[in-house]
Formats: sequence, structure tokens, C-alpha cells
Amino acid sequence: MELIRQIQDMRNVISNLRADKPSIRIGFVPTMGFLHQGHASLLQAARQQCDIVVLSIFVNPLQFGPNEDFERYPRDEARDLALAEAAGTDFVFSPSTAEMYPRPSKTKILISGVTEQLCGASRPGHFDGVGIVVTKLFQIIQPNAAFFGMKDAQQVAVIKQLVTDLNMPVEIVPCAIIREQDGLAMSSRNVYLQSEEREQALVLSRTLKQMERQTIEAGGDLPTAELKQAIRKQIEEMPLADIDYIEILAYPDLEPIERLKDAKQVIIALAVRFGKTRLIDNVIIQLQE
Ligand code: AMP
Repeated sequence: MELIRQIQDMRNVISNLRADKPSIRIGFVPTMGFLHQGHASLLQAARQQCDIVVLSIFVNPLQFGPNEDFERYPRDEARDLALAEAAGTDFVFSPSTAEMYPRPSKTKILISGVTEQLCGASRPGHFDGVGIVVTKLFQIIQPNAAFFGMKDAQQVAVIKQLVTDLNMPVEIVPCAIIREQDGLAMSSRNVYLQSEEREQALVLSRTLKQMERQTIEAGGDLPTAELKQAIRKQIEEMPLADIDYIEILAYPDLEPIERLKDAKQVIIALAVRFGKTRLIDNVIIQLQE
């Protein structure tokens, strides 16, 4: 495995690989580091489907709001490199902020229709930052396929829209959410949780699982407003939970629906704060073929 910090070095590696074997399939996994088994699952999927696996580690300042956790976002490069190597990574691209943004970017990537709701509503500008960094990384690495976790289901919808709209020649491969044994969705931010918060945070996956079962049993013939209210009630039973949003939308277009069966596929998505930590989780339910 090779660690690369400069854009030009990364470009040279890619062009040499393609010169040697034009049909080579390059798989790319973009992350912000502090890797866990969720990231490892993306690397493993890339390993299975591609000849070369490139991981990026870059905590992108543009996707953090002014009062968010950019400064204190957890970082541990040595640990990340060990995990990446064990998961079969060939190249780690880990540029500095100055390397990625030598001067403020005057180009904006604004993706509409799928960014106004959910995390886009709670984190203004977040998906503009994601759009620009993913576009830059795709330009630098020029992967054939890029692997994203369904933990960030809205991000998957946004990136698919971006790639389609701009005819980017990269296949977007969504990968399942990886959870701790007790159900908590893995996240780099879970390290912020105090033990009581972590305990109470289990309400998220527990409630989603229960609502998924209920929905399937009812064949989706349930009003979304009622289901949202039932979810709210369960989460509010936890004294440390501070709800940001509870939403049920069609997926991947993220349009509102009145009854679950109004869409082929729905997402139940949650964002809830426990202390200073904002957690997200979701379930996608297929209602029609
Ligand atoms: P991040 O480092 O949080 O920006 O995440 C990098 C990639 O890993 C994104 O595509 C995430 O959706 C994905 N990811 C994060 N947590 C998980 C998880 N628990 N299961 C699957 N994928 C994940």
C-alpha cells in the first residue's frame, strides 16, 4: 500500500496504471478517516469489484458548518493506514487542506431537489461542500467505480444526481449500513458519545427496525404522519435525545409522500442529538418491485 499526499503524484500513479493496462478497473472509497468497519466494508466491496482500490482520507472543511465539529473531528492516521491495508487498499490519497484548496474555490456545485430536505435542511451548505470535494476527487482519481455507504443515504442520492447530471463516467456503488452488535450504526463520531448517551442512542436502530417490520406487515398501507408521530414518541422516551428530524420520503428522489405505499421505495431517516453528538440513521423499505 502506498500513501500519497500530492495531487500530481496521485495523477501520475493513475495514468501509469492506465498506460500499463487500459482496461484496468479503479475503485475509489472517499472518507474523512477515523476508519471503522463501515469504511472497511466499502474497501472490501471495492477490492472484490475492482483491480485497484484507492482510499481517500480528507476532512473536508467545506462540508462543515461554522458551528460544527471540523476542528475536533477525530483523526488517527496510523490506525487508519493499518485498517486500510488490512482491507486490501492499494493507494491512500491523504492531501492537506492547502493541497486541495490552495485558494478559495470560486466554482460552486449546487445540486437541487435532493438537498433541500433532511441533512441538507439542518446543515446549510453541507451538500455544496460534498459536491465540490467529490467532484475534485473524481477529477484527480478518475475512478471507474466509487463506493458510498447507505448510512448517508441522502449523500448517495445527491452523488448519483451529480454524476448523472454532469455525465461523470463513474459508477456509484451503494453499500449497506454496518452496525455494532447492539444495532448502533457505526460512525467516526460515535467516539464522542458518553456511556449514558451511547446506551440511549440504541433507540434509533431499535425504532427503525420496529417500524420497518410494522410497515412490511401492513403492506405499506400506513400514513406517514402517523408513523412519524409513533417514532417521535419512542425517541422522546430517552431523556438525552434531542430530535433534529424524523422524515419519511420516497427514495431516492426524496419527495414527500402521504402513505408509504405511494412510493416504490421509501426511506425512514432520523437525525438525533445525544449531548454534543449528532447521529443519523435510516432504513430503506422496498414496497413495490
Ligand atoms: P465518512 O468518513 O463519515 O465521510 O464516511 C465515508 C464513507 O463511509 C461514506 O460513504 C459513508 O456513508 C460510509 N460509511 C460511514 N459509516 C458507515 C457505516 N456504518 N456503514 C456503511 N458505510 C458507512
